[in-house]
Amino acid sequence: MSDATDALNRVFGYPSFRGQQGDIVEHVIAGGDALVLMPTGGGKSLCYQIPALVRPGTGVVISPLIALMQDQVDALRTLGVRAGFLNSSQDLDERRMVEAEFVAGELDLLYVAPEGLGTAGVQRLLDRGKISLFAIDEAHCVAQWGHDFRPDYLGLSMLHERWPDVPRIALTATATPATRDEIAGRLGLTEARHFTASFDRPNIQYRIVPKNQPSRQLLELLRSEHAGHSGIVYCLSRASVDKHAAFLTDNGIPALPYHAGLDSRTRFENQSRFLREDGLVMVATIAFGMGIDKPDVRFVAHLDLPKSVEGYYQETGRAGRDGLPSTAWLAYGLQDVVQQRKMIDSSEGDVAFRRNAARHLDAMLALCESVTCRRAQVLAYFGQSSDSPTCGNCDVCLTPPESWDGTVAAQKLLSTVFRLQKERNQKFGAGQSIDILLGKRTDKVTRFRHDELSVFGIGTDLRESEWRGVVRQLLAGGYLTVHGEYSTLALTDSSASVLRGEAKLMMRREVAPVRPARTASSR
Ligand code: ADP
Ligand code: ZN
Repeated sequence: MSDATDALNRVFGYPSFRGQQGDIVEHVIAGGDALVLMPTGGGKSLCYQIPALVRPGTGVVISPLIALMQDQVDALRTLGVRAGFLNSSQDLDERRMVEAEFVAGELDLLYVAPEGLGTAGVQRLLDRGKISLFAIDEAHCVAQWGHDFRPDYLGLSMLHERWPDVPRIALTATATPATRDEIAGRLGLTEARHFTASFDRPNIQYRIVPKNQPSRQLLELLRSEHAGHSGIVYCLSRASVDKHAAFLTDNGIPALPYHAGLDSRTRFENQSRFLREDGLVMVATIAFGMGIDKPDVRFVAHLDLPKSVEGYYQETGRAGRDGLPSTAWLAYGLQDVVQQRKMIDSSEGDVAFRRNAARHLDAMLALCESVTCRRAQVLAYFGQSSDSPTCGNCDVCLTPPESWDGTVAAQKLLSTVFRLQKERNQKFGAGQSIDILLGKRTDKVTRFRHDELSVFGIGTDLRESEWRGVVRQLLAGGYLTVHGEYSTLALTDSSASVLRGEAKLMMRREVAPVRPARTASSR
C-alpha cells in the first residue's frame, strides 16, 4: 500500500481516493506543482493534506478564510493531525506556541492568512522550519476581475522565488478557462500540471423562475418542497436580508440574517447555529458562504440576480454537498436587469472594469433567458461539455418553456422608446412605455400627452406582465439599455436591426405566476 493510501485510511478513515485525488496527491508528493479545479464538495482539502502528511516538513496552507481556520485546525487535531494556524485573531501567546511548534518540526499543517505571508516576520519564521509544500486555497482570489479578489493574493507569486524547491498546489472551485489562466499566470505556476474535475453537480436541480412576488414565491417553495430543511437564501442588499429573515420567521420558518453590516459576534453566532442546528434558513448577502462546509444544505434560493455565472455556480454549489437531491432556485425579473446595469454604469471602476462586469452580467442574463438545458449552459460556460444536451434535472428540461415570435412586440416597444426619444426628446422608464402600449390614460400619460403618440394603445394584445418580459428580454439581449438615476430606456446599436425587421426575436413565453401562498404577514 502506498504511503498516501495508508494516510487516507489511517488518518481520515476513507477506503479510497475519489476522482482525481489519487493522481493529484501522487504528483504533489513527487514534488510537482499543481493547479486543481474541482467543484465545491469535490474533496480538495485531501489533495494537499495527504501530501503534507507524507512529505517531510510542514505543509503551509494559505487561506483567506480566517474565520474558519480555528474550525479547520480543530477538526484536523481530532483526527490526530498536528495542525496549527497563524492569523490576526489570535493572541501573542498562542502565536508564539504555534511558531515554536513549526520551527521544531512538530506540525504537519500550518494555516496562514495571505496578508500574514506578506510580512517579513512570517517569511523569516518560515525560513527557520522545513516546508513540505504550499497549498494556495481559494486560488481564484488572485483573479483581479473575479468576485472574490484579494489584493494580498497577488503577493503570493513570491513563494516560488523565495522557496523555489517547495512544490505548490493551488486549488479553486471557480473554473472558467480565463480564470484558470489568470491564476496560473499571476501565481507563476508555469510548470504546474492542471487537474480539472467535472463541474457537473448532478444532484442539484437548477430552476430559474420569473420574479413576481419574490417573498411569497420563496415561501411557497420552502413550504411545498423544503419544509424543515436547511438552506441559504441570497439577497443583494442588507436591508433585503433583514426583511426576508424576519418575513420567514414570522411565517414559521426559522431563519437568521447574515451580512457585513452585522457585528462580527452576531455573524459568528448565526453562522455557527446554521452549521450546528438542523432546519435553519440562512438569509444572507454573498458575504456568507465561502468555505462553509455544511453537507446537508438542501436548497439555495436567490432572490436577486447574481452578477456572474461564476458567482451563481459558487453560491448554488453550497447545496447538496452530501450528494442528495437539492434545489438551486433563482427568481429573476425585469428589475434585476435594470438594477444590475445601473450598478455597473454608476460603479467607480474604470472602463475596462465596467466592460468586464457587463460581460459577466450578459452571460448570467443569457443563462436566465435560455431555452436550452441550464446545466449544459453552465458547464459550457466553464468550457466543459455535458454528456447529453438535456439533463432531465433543470426547469428547462423538466418543463420546456414555450417560445414565441416576439419580433413584432419588440418592434412596438422599441418604436415607443424611439418616438419618445426622437419626437419628444424625452426619456422614460419601462413602466411608462408599457402604459403607452397598453393605452392606459394614467396621469403621467395624459400630462405628457403620450396618448397622442401613434404607438398609444397598439400593444393591447399582450398583458402587462408579458410586456415586462419583452422589455427584460430586450435588455438581456442588448437591444435596449437603461440610463441614469431613473433607469430610463434607450436604444442601442442593435435596436435598428429589429426595427428594420432584419432580426427575428424568439422569446420565452412567460409562465403564469405561481399560486400565491397564504402568508401570516403580507410584508
Ligand atoms: P471541497 O474543499 O472541494 O469543497 P472538501 O475537501 O471539504 O471539499 O470535501 C468534501 C467532503 O467530502 C468532506 O466531507 C470530505 O471529508 C469528503 N471526502 C473528500 N474526499 C473523500 C474520499 N476520498 N472519500 C470519502 N470522503 C471524502
Ligand atoms: Zn437540463
